[in-house]
Amino acid sequence: MRIGIIGTGVAGSLLAEALQDAPGHDVTAFERVAPDDHAEAGTGLNIGPNALKSLRLAMPARHAALRAASLPWNRWFVDLTDGTRLLDLDLLEVAEEPGVRIRWSELYRLLRAPVAGCTRHGHALEAVEEDAAGRLVPVFRTAQGLVREGGFDLLVGADGRYSRLRALTAGEPEGTLLGVCIWRLLVTQAADCPYDDYGQWFQGNARLLSFRVPGGAVYIAGTFPIGPDGVVDEGMKTPAAQRALFTPPGGAPCPAVAWMLDRIAAQIDDIHWARSATVPLLRTAAGGRALFLGDAAQAMVPTLGQGATQAVECGVVAGQVLRRGGTVADIAAARDPRVEFVRDFSLAASDTLLPGCDVVAGTQAKTRPDFLAKLRRTYVDVA
Ligand SMILES: Cc1cc2nc3c(=O)[nH]c(=O)nc-3n(C[C@H](O)[C@H](O)[C@H](O)COP(=O)(O)OP(=O)(O)OC[C@H]3O[C@@H](n4cnc5c(N)ncnc54)[C@H](O)[C@@H]3O)c2cc1C
Repeated sequence: MRIGIIGTGVAGSLLAEALQDAPGHDVTAFERVAPDDHAEAGTGLNIGPNALKSLRLAMPARHAALRAASLPWNRWFVDLTDGTRLLDLDLLEVAEEPGVRIRWSELYRLLRAPVAGCTRHGHALEAVEEDAAGRLVPVFRTAQGLVREGGFDLLVGADGRYSRLRALTAGEPEGTLLGVCIWRLLVTQAADCPYDDYGQWFQGNARLLSFRVPGGAVYIAGTFPIGPDGVVDEGMKTPAAQRALFTPPGGAPCPAVAWMLDRIAAQIDDIHWARSATVPLLRTAAGGRALFLGDAAQAMVPTLGQGATQAVECGVVAGQVLRRGGTVADIAAARDPRVEFVRDFSLAASDTLLPGCDVVAGTQAKTRPDFLAKLRRTYVDVA
């Protein structure tokens, strides 16, 4: 079976690794960026315990590499920006092992290295044609111009949230905005940072999220509500506006928030501004000749840190199913109900980011047994 994988991000790299030595499979991965070009990678991220469990069971070498390149994600605390604690969760109460905290560039490096031999870099999918046998023929834009790579029995769209393969075979998906701006920053000189593990700090429905990542760096993400038009006001992209957003009225911010506000002011030009959105789940197209994994199939809100985490599960499950001769329908059956559950749960858990939700009551609800049971299901119930 000739399989072409579009994109060697999270899901694509893991699938390529699982299939590259599998008898009966001829795998080629196509990646638009050059080797060692991680410029498009984000800053830092937390990966959930469920991705680690999935890797530990199916791809132990990748599990070990990920653990070695990261810091453990053991706790999740939620404070108000004045330092009042609302939630403090030991992840092992709801998971079988910790998650990880890692830099994006490091994650891509360790996932892409094992599949370098079957990856063609500098290949950006541009179009899809069909050969006389009815197989899909990807057309790539390269430095040498457009290149056709012959027919594939299966093309896998692992090309992320703005999947070109999905747009070409199933049309551009209609995204739904959550109604919040989300920005990300990596602080590389962070020896004086007053915290370590994963924390969130709320001021009204605006929230800072931060944790240390390896190499003495700290990842900071901010979110704040935006209007129904989805426009992020340029006036919000200033140190003064961000300081006003996260400073408790009539009081001083706690030391952690004060530290972040200073870093935001110093690095405002390094901040990447985006909007949180979802797209409808789609697993296959072109009569089963195209399969979608990770964000290409299921872009979700990042509230529970499940985007890359679910992309890991996708890559692992698709690799296992295809290795044993299964079909895209088998992959859909194994993945779709779980993805629907995690997407819905992530969306519901975003309540405290939206106007109208009382942050204290909403966060306290996340300490109740029903929420913790869903978190356990998310972190433990891997296929
Ligand atoms: C602000 C923010 C914070 C987030 N934080 C977290 C977090 O803490 N934890 C978490 O689990 N998730 C997080 N996510 C989600 C996470 O970024 C994605 O869910 C994850 O990267 C999806 O993995 P993927 O393999 O589907 O795609 P990606 O990792 O995006 O990989 C896609 C690959 O395809 C390549 N590509 C794209 N187009 C083409 C083309 N036309 N031709 C060839 N190659 C192509 C790209 O170069 C890339 O290598 C966050 C997202 C955002 C926006």
